[in-house]
Amino acid sequence: MNHSDTLKFVIVGHVDHGKSTLIGRLFYDTDCLPPDKVEEIEKTSKELGREVEFAFLLDHLQEEREQGITIDTAQTFFKTEKRKYVIIDAPGHVEFVKNMITGASQAEAAILIVDALEGVKEQTRRHAYILSLLGLDQVIVIINKMDAVNYDENRFNTVKNDVEKFLESINIKAKYYLPISALKGDNVAKKSENMKWYQGVTVLESLDSLKNKPPAEDKPLIFPIQDVYKIDGKRINVGRVEAGIIEKGQIIKILPTGQVTRVKSIEKFMENTDRSVAGESTGFTTEDPVFLERGHVVCLPGNEPYLTDTFKANVFWMFRKPLDINEKITLKCATQEVSCRVQSIEKRMNSSTLELLERNATILENLEVGEVIIKTKHPIAVKTFNEVQELGRFVLERDQLTCAGGIITEIL
Ligand code: GDP
Repeated sequence: MNHSDTLKFVIVGHVDHGKSTLIGRLFYDTDCLPPDKVEEIEKTSKELGREVEFAFLLDHLQEEREQGITIDTAQTFFKTEKRKYVIIDAPGHVEFVKNMITGASQAEAAILIVDALEGVKEQTRRHAYILSLLGLDQVIVIINKMDAVNYDENRFNTVKNDVEKFLESINIKAKYYLPISALKGDNVAKKSENMKWYQGVTVLESLDSLKNKPPAEDKPLIFPIQDVYKIDGKRINVGRVEAGIIEKGQIIKILPTGQVTRVKSIEKFMENTDRSVAGESTGFTTEDPVFLERGHVVCLPGNEPYLTDTFKANVFWMFRKPLDINEKITLKCATQEVSCRVQSIEKRMNSSTLELLERNATILENLEVGEVIIKTKHPIAVKTFNEVQELGRFVLERDQLTCAGGIITEIL
């Protein structure tokens, strides 16, 4: 899929605030639903004596995926005249953070949905915090269920101000605040007749105005090795170019070994090329018989990530059993995997309110955020999150279960 004509986004928000309904509405209003699905949903809704219930639609899609047929929800997309949209599945925030941090699904934008009746809830705050943790800076705030508050402008402003205040405290500046009804369709694809006081864009217009993430092509090369294939006596090192460009003839350095060699060839599936750019999965061979393996990071000599075993990070703990200081856990950053310990927890915070709970804490409880210092068993190649996201974020695993996501804020 061409990068620039597709935008990936995620919809987050408190349970029942209307995520599924909005997704259904977006598919429906852009005619991106198979006709038989529409009929089926209209029929079911009628039988229940209700209006078309878009949440059913999502349940149907879910069921189909579980049975492994027709629609692949992980790839569900809808189209406007401008481009295609992929809605990234975020069944829960643990999965979402995990997918984002491991790079399995990289959202370029997010919709934060808030119920106009209920206003900001705990999950609203927590999800917003995750967006800031992941550096997602294209955020659209949707105040949903406006039909349930008589399309009242004052109510919209109250909720908008609450959301805005919280987002400001975590350094997110939302691009839009939209009053909508996902159920009735107000301001989703069409301007609402019921909210003449609102002069802004619709959901589709707001999405169309977002920018694709600029390709990381202009940054220095970062190429974490995923695997090495031995084919016809050649060792082909494969992975995804996370930043910069890799090309034939280029001098490269391998971390952590420090070996320097030259790229002999670029080996791309079904393609004859001499270069691969950020965002592409590719392979290469080297002129010298250097040893590369999963977890090695290829870069340019003189323009290298840090090789360190100690750094400062913000960690979002998402596991019932708390994190104990000095407990042995596993850290995964790009394709690197290393045993590590959280050496100190300088601050322990509530992820929902961001209230400071404790300084120099010894544990981090479920759904708490910590400003921590991490020590890895051996040095790994990292960047701060602000420099290169792909080497600045990591997950922590305990017994192979993801229990935290984090970003690197400072190299020590
Ligand atoms: P989710 O948990 O965020 O996916 O929420 P759902 O989409 O399942 O919606 C939860 C409930 O809110 C369902 O009963 C929906 O019909 C209802 N709902 C969603 N959007 C609207 C809306 O715009 N107006 C009203 N009145 N109800 C809505």
